[in-house]
Amino acid sequence: MKFGGTSMAGTERIRTVAKLVAREVANGNEVAVVVSAMAGETDRLVNFCREANPRYDPAEYDVVVAAGEQITSGLLALTLQAMGTPARSWLGWQLPIRTEEAHARARIADIDTGALAAAMAKGEVAVIPGFQGLMDDGRVSTLGRGGSDTSAVAVAAALKADRCDIYTDVDGVYTTDPRIVARARKLDYVTYEEMLELASVGAKVLQTRSVGLAMKEGVRVQVLSSFVEGDEAPKKGTMIVSDEEIEEHQMERQLITGIAHDKNEAKIIVTRVPDKPGAVANIFGPLAAAGINVDMIIQNVGREKGETDVTFTVPATDLIRSIDLLEAAKDKIGFNRIISDDKVAKISVVGVGMKSHAGVASTMFRALADRGINIQAISTSEIKVSVLIDEDETELAVRVLHTAYGLDAD
Ligand code: ASP
Ligand code: MG
Repeated sequence: MKFGGTSMAGTERIRTVAKLVAREVANGNEVAVVVSAMAGETDRLVNFCREANPRYDPAEYDVVVAAGEQITSGLLALTLQAMGTPARSWLGWQLPIRTEEAHARARIADIDTGALAAAMAKGEVAVIPGFQGLMDDGRVSTLGRGGSDTSAVAVAAALKADRCDIYTDVDGVYTTDPRIVARARKLDYVTYEEMLELASVGAKVLQTRSVGLAMKEGVRVQVLSSFVEGDEAPKKGTMIVSDEEIEEHQMERQLITGIAHDKNEAKIIVTRVPDKPGAVANIFGPLAAAGINVDMIIQNVGREKGETDVTFTVPATDLIRSIDLLEAAKDKIGFNRIISDDKVAKISVVGVGMKSHAGVASTMFRALADRGINIQAISTSEIKVSVLIDEDETELAVRVLHTAYGLDAD
């Protein structure tokens, strides 16, 4: 069981969490719990580091920010004990959860579950602070923001758990953002691949890395809400499972599973680039070297005189840096000018069903055209079609597509 920051925000909320844990114990389960820091706590700790030293040492930053989870893990163990449920906390370094690579963005290498499994077998709930681990040199590390989800999946994989229940403040994964489409529906099942696409294009329920890990390790993940009344049981959430399991559960699925939107992209057009081998490599080489992630790419039909325009998107936060890099390489690339626009949004329709069905993209283009929404760029993968549109049309596009693919709830 994993509980996020809003579920752990204060002793009253922690009591509700403890009841949910005790309920699983009463059902005969052995339980390990991974907890986040209280909502807002990690931001507060990050700010302290900035104030203390703007060029903070990542190793000391980890010492500070890992503290938020240390507090909640101890508090949950205390609360469980007060309710008569045996429990103890296991800090990252005590298990240990070994990590590698860099401080503040460590990756889990290995979890020693020996002591943990023995304690659980004795009937003791194991409470583990998420987000933190231990470097080879004996120092504390953290996994990057939102990393408690990844901690939970890694612990579940190491313990070969039947399930990894991730409790949060929403009751599952929806067909689209319910704040935009009131008739969005909660999904009972979604595949790892679909969840990865939905998470990476803006449906911010789980840290993307945790979904990748769950897929690799075959961990069945459920997203559900910890916000229950009194002693009531939690409502079923959304199960994230393999393609095979989905087929067993749902004879007939909708062709499209969900629609995501992302306003954090920016468009760059490089005009009048020589239409010859190597030109595109000269554009993207410097961006790749700088670690800038290019997403949609279009090379327009050649103009006269062997020239062409190249259009692509980058994260909006990298726009200025990208333009600087391109200007610096202007002579080598040989373009005329750069046009950019950060008032764009990427809308994606996602569904494993499109692997075996034609016409998904054309439905999308027709539905948008009927509402006069212009498409500026397109990209596709096996289970996703994305279009770039004017940012002001985001909400309209999401609504129109939700209806066009028959996703609206009755
Ligand atoms: N507390 C950490 C954060 O806010 C890790 C997490 O909650 O997943 O990023
Ligand atoms: Mg989170």
